[in-house]
Amino acid sequence: MPIRAGSDQGDVLAFAMNAEQWQGLKARHKSKAMNLWMPCCQVPAVPKTSPRGTFFFAHARRGECATADESPEHLYCKSLIAQAAMDAGWKVTSEWPGQSPEGEQWVADVFCEKGTAKLALEVQMSPQSDAETVRRQDRYRASGVRGAWFFGAGARRATLELDRSTPAFSLRPVEVGTVPTVDPFGMSLTGFIEALLHKRIDWDIPTYHRPHLVEYIEDACWACKKPVKQVLEHMEASSSPDDDALTESDFYEGRFVPTAYTVAAVSKRLEAMHAVLSNEDLAAQGLNLVGRKDVIGGKPTRFPFVNLCLHCHAPQNNHFLCERILDAMQRQSSVGADEELTELASAQSGPVGVALIPRVLRGRGEWKLREADSP
Ligand SMILES: [Zn+2]
Ligand SMILES: [Zn+2]
Repeated sequence: MPIRAGSDQGDVLAFAMNAEQWQGLKARHKSKAMNLWMPCCQVPAVPKTSPRGTFFFAHARRGECATADESPEHLYCKSLIAQAAMDAGWKVTSEWPGQSPEGEQWVADVFCEKGTAKLALEVQMSPQSDAETVRRQDRYRASGVRGAWFFGAGARRATLELDRSTPAFSLRPVEVGTVPTVDPFGMSLTGFIEALLHKRIDWDIPTYHRPHLVEYIEDACWACKKPVKQVLEHMEASSSPDDDALTESDFYEGRFVPTAYTVAAVSKRLEAMHAVLSNEDLAAQGLNLVGRKDVIGGKPTRFPFVNLCLHCHAPQNNHFLCERILDAMQRQSSVGADEELTELASAQSGPVGVALIPRVLRGRGEWKLREADSP
C-alpha cells in the first residue's frame, strides 16, 4: 500500500501530512475536486487511514495491479522512516521506481535524495534470504543508489554475514502505533534514521592486541662476536584460552614437561616459528632471525632450521645453542636447587627471556552509533 499518490498537482505524500492536511485531502478527493492515482498502476487512488492511524492510499479498484498488499506493520514502518528522513532534511519519495543499467526494475520503499546522494531505505517484514537481500542491494548499487535494510522480527533468513556493503538492521517486534526499536542499538526507529542520515552509524572493525611470545637466550655470535638473542621457542598470539593478551609469564604457565634441548627438537621448533613469524618481526625486537640451511659445516643436515645472526646473518649452530641453554639451566639450578626454568626466565640477570611481538587481530565488523557531539 503506497503512502504516495500521483495528482494533477504532482506527488501527494501521505507521510508528509499532518491530521488536518490529511482530512483536507480526503474532503477534496470526496468532492472530486482532486484526482489521485496510484503510483504502481495509475488506477484511481483513495486516501485512507488505517485503524492504527497510518495514512495511505488504496486502489479504487484492484484491476491488473500486481503490487502485493503490505502488512500494517510494513506500512507503518515505511511511514515512520519516510517522515524521519524528511525531518532529517532529505527529499523523500516513497514507492519510488527505478531501473538498473541492465534494465532491471526496482521500487524503493523510501527513496531519499540530497545533493548527489541517493538512498533506498527498505522495510522487510516478510521473510527474505540474505542471498536475495544481497541481490537487491547489488541492483541498487548498479543504479547508483545506496540501500539500507530494516528487517522485522524473524524476517531475515540469515545465512551470510552482511557487512558494510549491505547495511542491515533488525527491528524488535513491531506494534503499529508504537515506534519500534532498532536492535542492538536500543534506539527508536525514527532516532536511528536520523542518526543514519547524519552519518552517525559507522562500520566499526574492532582490533585486539594479542602479542606473540618468543623465548630467547642471550648469547654472542660466533662469527661477528656481537651480542645476540638466540630464539628458542614461540607461543602464538591466539593460543590464550581466556582471550586475554598473552604476557611473558604465560610462556611458562602450566609447562610441566621439560623441554628437550636436542638439535632435532630445536630445528623443529625454529621451523614452527619460521612458519608464523617473519624475520622482520623478530628483527624489530632485536632477536636473531630464523632461516633454513640444508648444508651445515659442509655436511647435509636433516635438521636445517637455525638462528641467523641479527647483525651478520651467520647461521648459528644448534648443537652449541643446546649446550648454551643446558649450561644456563645448570648455573641457575646451582643457585636454587629446585628452581624451575620459570625462575630462570624471571631472574633479572638471567640469560633467558621472553620477547613480545606485537600482533593486531581484527575482529568482526559491526555497526556502531557515534554520539552526536563526539569528534
Ligand atoms: Zn497498483
Ligand atoms: Zn654475527
